[in-house]
This record gives sequence, structure tokens and C-alpha cells, in this order.
Amino acid sequence: MVNVILLGPPGAGKGTQAKRLVDERGMVQLSTGDMLRQARSSGTEMGRRVAHVMDRGELVTDDIVIGLIEEKLTHAEGAGFIFDGFPRTLPQADALGRLLDKVGQRLDAVIEMQVDDAALVARISGRVTCGVCGAVYHDQTHPTRQPGVCDACGSTDLRRRADDNEASLRQRLMEYYKKTSPLIGYYYAKGQLTTVDGLAAVEVVAEAVRRVLDKG
Ligand code: ADP
Ligand code: AMP
Repeated sequence: MVNVILLGPPGAGKGTQAKRLVDERGMVQLSTGDMLRQARSSGTEMGRRVAHVMDRGELVTDDIVIGLIEEKLTHAEGAGFIFDGFPRTLPQADALGRLLDKVGQRLDAVIEMQVDDAALVARISGRVTCGVCGAVYHDQTHPTRQPGVCDACGSTDLRRRADDNEASLRQRLMEYYKKTSPLIGYYYAKGQLTTVDGLAAVEVVAEAVRRVLDKG
């Protein structure tokens, strides 16, 4: 079992790398962003409560996302967890430590994916996601083989996220630098942090991630 956090600003490539690890290693991707979007599309009370917060690019409250992770940690099984987009605040990081203890697991690595803001804007503005299987594409750098059809599952339900617009992205970046980037120091101090160059090609980043996971 290897449990890893993928840490980085919106558009750093966390979801892209997480999906590769799921396919290659049978790991379980725990993306709080995906869970919240699912709650929205299935119209739950919680989904309705968080919709405006997400569209504005702000963080939803710690207790909501910690609750979502707790639920998954106690029920999911696989060759380790990939935390994608969680934790995003120091209280979330502390809660994750406690939850892992509770289920008899430990955190093996935290991978910080470094990407500059200009590249993030370009990535976010071209992002397209499959509404059925969650595969991630990009208009310019990673288009689907057939226009409008998901390579992975054949679905034609290809979507742009409601929060992938310039105003929301500006707010999401601000939230990242103010509330999430302190986690870099937090995990560095614990000796768990490795930084990779997220600007490199997807395959090159994947190789760097592989090296970190196979080290421990
Ligand atoms: P995150 O989950 O960190 O928000 P995503 O994995 O959704 O980021 O990636 C954001 C966009 O950038 C997507 O359109 C994806 O195809 C593209 N992308 C991801 N990794 C890379 C990379 N290494 N080089 C170029 N584009 C990338
Ligand atoms: P993501 O899919 O990771 O880009 O997340 C999309 C949005 O969901 C964020 O902008 C937040 O509004 C919300 N969100 C996702 N994960 C968290 C988290 N761990 N803490 C707070 N808000 C979150």
C-alpha cells in the first residue's frame, strides 16, 4: 500500500497523473473536487449548498470535505490512496493525519507539482473532461482522437467545468497561495515532500511520480 498526496495549484495536472496511477497500479483516486461535483449533479442538499462557493472559486468548508474523505477512507479498498485536491488547508492536513491513523494507514509521500501561473491559465482554459469516465483532455495539447468523443470510453459527454473561467481561476489561484501553499512547508518539515516539475510533458511527470512512489 502506498498512499500519496498530489499537491499543486488548479491545473497543475493532479487529476491527469492520478488517473494514470489508477490505471497502472489499481490505486484509488480520492478527489474532493470530483466528489463535490458529483454531489452537485445528483442534486443533494450538500451539493446545492456548495455550488455557488465552487463557481466563485472559493474553498468549501473544512468539515464538508473532511467528512467526504472520512466516508471514502473507511469504505474504499485498493492498492493505496491518491489524495487529489485534498488536503487544501492546514486543518484538513491535520484531519487527514488523524483519519489515516484511525484506519491503520500512513502517508508515504507528498508530491508537489510546480507549474507557473501563465501555464495554469493556458491549461485551465483548454481543459475538457469526460462526464462519464472522468478522462481529462486539452483542446490544444491533448485533444481527443475523434472530435467530441472520449478516447477512453467512447462517450460524447465532454464538458467544460463551470469554474474554468478567468474570474474563478484568479480566485482559485489566490485561495491556493493563501490557504494551500502553507502545506508545502508543513510536509517539508515532516520530511515527506518531493517537488516535481509539473511543466514537463505528461509522460515525463508520470516518470517522476513513479520514481517517488517506488522509492519508499
Ligand atoms: P488539476 O487536476 O491539477 O486541476 P488536470 O489534470 O485537470 O489538473 O490538468 C489541467 C489541464 O492541463 C488538462 O486540460 C490537462 O489535459 C492538461 N495537462 C495536465 N498535465 C499536463 C502536462 N504535463 N503538460 C501539458 N498539459 C497538461
Ligand atoms: P478541484 O476539482 O480540485 O479543482 O476543486 C474544485 C472546487 O471544489 C474548488 O475550487 C473548491 O471550491 C472545491 N474543493 C475541492 N476540494 C476542496 C478541498 N479539499 N477543500 C475545500 N474546497 C475544495
